[in-house]
Amino acid sequence: MSNITTHNLGFPRIGAKRELKFALESYWRGESSKDQLTSVGAELRQRHWAHQAKLDLVPVGDFSFYDQVLDLSFTLGNLPERVQSFHGDTLDNYFRVARGRSAAGAEDHAACCGGVAAGEMTKWFDTNYHYIVPEFTAATAFSLDASRLLAQVAEAKAQGIKAKPVIVGPVTYLAIGKAKDNSNKLALLEQLLPVYADLLTALAAAGVEWVQIDEPILVTELSSEWQDAFRTAYAALSKTKVKLLLATYFGQLQENIALACELPVHGFHLDAINAQAEVATLQAQLPQDRVLSLGVINGRNIWKTDLNTLLDWLEPVAKQLGDRLWIAPSCSLLHVPVDLNSELSFDAEVKPWLAFALQKLDELEIIATALNHGRDSVSAELSANREAIEARRLSPRVNNPAVKAALATITPELGQRRSAYTARADKQTALLQLPKYPTTTIGSFPQTAEIRQARSQFKAGQIDDTAYTAAMKAEIERSVREQEALGLDVLVHGEAERNDMVEYFGEQLDGYVFSRFGWVQSYGSRCVKPPILFGDISRPNAMTVAWTTFAQSLTAKPMKGMLTGPVTILNWSFVRDDQPRSVSCYQLALAIRAEVLDLEKAGVQVIQIDEAALREGLPLRQSQWQAYLDWAVESFRISANGVGDATQIHTHMCYSEFNDIIASIAEMDADVITIETSRSDMELLDVFDHFNYPNQIGPGVYDIHSPNIPTEAHMVQLMQKAAERIPAERLWVNPDCGLKTRQWPEVLPALRNMVAAAKTLRA
Ligand code: GLN
Ligand code: ZN
Repeated sequence: MSNITTHNLGFPRIGAKRELKFALESYWRGESSKDQLTSVGAELRQRHWAHQAKLDLVPVGDFSFYDQVLDLSFTLGNLPERVQSFHGDTLDNYFRVARGRSAAGAEDHAACCGGVAAGEMTKWFDTNYHYIVPEFTAATAFSLDASRLLAQVAEAKAQGIKAKPVIVGPVTYLAIGKAKDNSNKLALLEQLLPVYADLLTALAAAGVEWVQIDEPILVTELSSEWQDAFRTAYAALSKTKVKLLLATYFGQLQENIALACELPVHGFHLDAINAQAEVATLQAQLPQDRVLSLGVINGRNIWKTDLNTLLDWLEPVAKQLGDRLWIAPSCSLLHVPVDLNSELSFDAEVKPWLAFALQKLDELEIIATALNHGRDSVSAELSANREAIEARRLSPRVNNPAVKAALATITPELGQRRSAYTARADKQTALLQLPKYPTTTIGSFPQTAEIRQARSQFKAGQIDDTAYTAAMKAEIERSVREQEALGLDVLVHGEAERNDMVEYFGEQLDGYVFSRFGWVQSYGSRCVKPPILFGDISRPNAMTVAWTTFAQSLTAKPMKGMLTGPVTILNWSFVRDDQPRSVSCYQLALAIRAEVLDLEKAGVQVIQIDEAALREGLPLRQSQWQAYLDWAVESFRISANGVGDATQIHTHMCYSEFNDIIASIAEMDADVITIETSRSDMELLDVFDHFNYPNQIGPGVYDIHSPNIPTEAHMVQLMQKAAERIPAERLWVNPDCGLKTRQWPEVLPALRNMVAAAKTLRA
């Protein structure tokens, strides 16, 4: 029998109970010491390694106090220029780059290095994990500090762990960074490589045999310069004494497959979930002395693997590859929650269908045992797995014939408004009687301590439904009164009753379940708990109509109905793997459409459908963008466009980069789109201008991420810049985004200034 090596690419660092989050936040508040924080870190590493001890190789260096890319920037001595004069504690400096610091907060260093802007954050490939973007200039110089990695290797060894350090490779490191001076990042490669080589040499000296070097950029479109950078880099790094496992994940190699095979490394890891079709080519093209590591357990979702089907496919591959085959999850398990066994009160039917990080490692172990010793040696595990997979496949909660039938009736007409924009706009103007430069907000008002307390008491059964509803209605009334006093034109109810813009809808839809501890790191100490879309989606009852009509009953001004769009609900959930994402999205679209029509029937004249996450669903490869945009836009259109001409549809998106997607945004055909522009000085409206975007736009004039109160003059100026690009009669005045994270004492003066700005503009 064969001898397959098992390993893991990375483990979630946050802790099954989010221990790291709480330790970090307590340290940042000054309530615990650095020693307390570092000992929580050491405990987590120790515990996580113990969980992985059965693997042949265990990742080391995947732990981080904030972000593994920022860790690497420190290892490579690449700190942003503005913090290079830092002295004092390294960990504090690290957090200063991660989170920024206001000059006022840094008493000890006020004179030398007090205030500093946080490093920019962006999404790690197509995940919801955000890393701190490495900063480069033509003058960037690197210098090695291997201490963190070496200390963790020593720690792992002391624990008897077979350590495999994990680092991001040099090409990906350059590719995902930003040249602050627009210089050519690739020019830095030559200087960067010796530092990487020294790092690898130091690891070899510490007794490390294998290093996992992550180059996920290989699954994206690369110009020939970047392809050459791979050749240069790995020719240089192959001279060191460690064995390199070059890891790619999240997608297919496609045109880079030959390049991947030619690089002089000792092993190659392929995401066999996303790139299963490439395994055969890789087997044929990879030189015979290379290890081929296959990521066979999905590191991006929470579903149990169909182990029997996997073995049907994997056994012949294993026979051919013999000892050269390694197996692992497809990517780091950073993107899934830690332990399903933490869930004590989970939906009993659905729970056996799931696997979180620890359960995924168990699956890996079963697969390895089956390959090494035959399926008989794990027959009980395999038949239990078969049962769970079958139960899920056959469950009536997964398959709802009525939903499938409804989906089959979708036609292009469903997404089509009755009249063109101009005809609709006339009717809406007549009905709504809005002034020029109408004012509105994006939906939420501050989620006060009282709101949160009422919700947690309600969830804990300490107050009943009547008391909870009364508390929320009081908050809604407060928001309405404040908005009337401010003189806003289109009001919102304030979303007091919503914990989260996706969870709130998921909880009311059939086909969703929720975990209690299913946290996944988003950035730093911030975690999200994505709802789990497991079955065909239907809407048993109206979800928002009662709250909206209550709010409308309080005022003569138009009240916006507020919904989350299908694409955003999809992109912020764990979704099923047994049908295309597009199908789940269309199901969500039909549910939201029913809600939109119910709101309209109840007399709501303005309905906003938020699509904050539309852009983040874009695939890694541009060649696949259009296919995604086609079904995403169609889903939005289905949800929104069943209304009559006089009903005004708004949508909202939390960004302003529309360069590549402006045509799709226009196709959505929302009467009004509100976007985030206050920090960009309105230049980002150029895209709308050049495209001749035909409908109305509300470019944000109030940066809601900051506690600062924008002045009237500043907002007038921003709107004047907007009016240079978009005709004034198609402009709205509004903040960048919802106000739920702000306090009333900040919000009221800011909105007062905003309304004053609109009045000045009208005059
Ligand atoms: N309506 C939501 C709110 O105001 C929109 C939030 C978002 O776009 N992220 O909170
Ligand atoms: Zn937003």
